[in-house]
Amino acid sequence: MNNPNETIALIVPVFNEEENIAPFVTEVERVLSDYLSQIEIVFVDDGSSDNTAQKAIELQQDKSFINLLQLSRNFGKEAAVSAALDTVEAAAYVIIDVDLQHPLSTVIEFIHIWQTEKIDNIYGIRNEKYISSLWFYRLFNRLSGRVKIPVNVSDFRLIDRKVVEILRTLPERNRFMKGLFAWGGLKSRGVPYIQAERKTGNTKFNYPKLWNFALDGIMGFSTLPLRVWSYFGGFVALLAFIYMLWIVAKTLIFGIDVSGYASLMSVILFLGGIQLVSIGILGEYLGRVSEEVKRRPVYVIADIVGDMATNNGKNGCGVILEKNKNDD
Ligand code: UDP
Ligand code: MG
Repeated sequence: MNNPNETIALIVPVFNEEENIAPFVTEVERVLSDYLSQIEIVFVDDGSSDNTAQKAIELQQDKSFINLLQLSRNFGKEAAVSAALDTVEAAAYVIIDVDLQHPLSTVIEFIHIWQTEKIDNIYGIRNEKYISSLWFYRLFNRLSGRVKIPVNVSDFRLIDRKVVEILRTLPERNRFMKGLFAWGGLKSRGVPYIQAERKTGNTKFNYPKLWNFALDGIMGFSTLPLRVWSYFGGFVALLAFIYMLWIVAKTLIFGIDVSGYASLMSVILFLGGIQLVSIGILGEYLGRVSEEVKRRPVYVIADIVGDMATNNGKNGCGVILEKNKNDD
């Protein structure tokens, strides 16, 4: 077992990635050869239904720097990363995808900056002119108050164990990691990288998933969508009051006539729509509140393979099944 005070743990969430495990390990051995004595690969099997776990265990037989955390089912990438950060003891943690879209040469840059400049949170920035999620980062930063995430930031990053210690104190179930990393406020630096094409297999994310992800991010860090309705309501009430004065005056001066059906209808429909939207937003928050108060664990670790240093999940937001805990 490596000394956890020197270990650099590569945290690699994997979900149905049987073809990608071996190429990833080969690439780590090739590119990170100078650091191999310090490196532990931690695959987190996020409930794969193919042979992902078996592949990792096979390789682990003669490469002792490979480790595997097996979750009991698919909990999602953010939960898988949380499971590893809660459980594994290391000096630094590199969060990286298995599909080689995140270049390992950039990891060398991360390690270098971490070692020489003592920066705690070194994140990859996708080096692309156009990204579809730009609007999301802009909106997030507008709404989130003091917690800012850099535009175009990726989950791909190196964090010092200080950041992990802060993360372990955050109890929320909604693990919007980009926001949580930024929450700690430690020294950060972005490093541009070129995102490669996926090696094999398909992306596990689709538009509905990304939309929910964006909602989680914004609602986890801002209550503005809730508050905006009081201002809007106040504004509409003011307009209505002015309109009322006008109608009363008009009626007093010119008498009553029964026109105005069209304007009445459009005001009623417009306000009805606005009310439904605001109730919907209330519902979104309420749903999240109910998720949080249930205090369900974020993940269940069913099995741990390998000899990396673990902490028995003392401070974590998930569950480690008893058989995996060591007695000391
Ligand atoms: N992943 C996971 N659980 C999931 C979905 C994805 O652990 O429910 C892993 C996946 O195996 C990969 C990483 O998260 O290592 C990123 O997934 P993917 O490449 O599909 O996302 P993209 O790069 O398209 O954003
Ligand atoms: Mg990918």
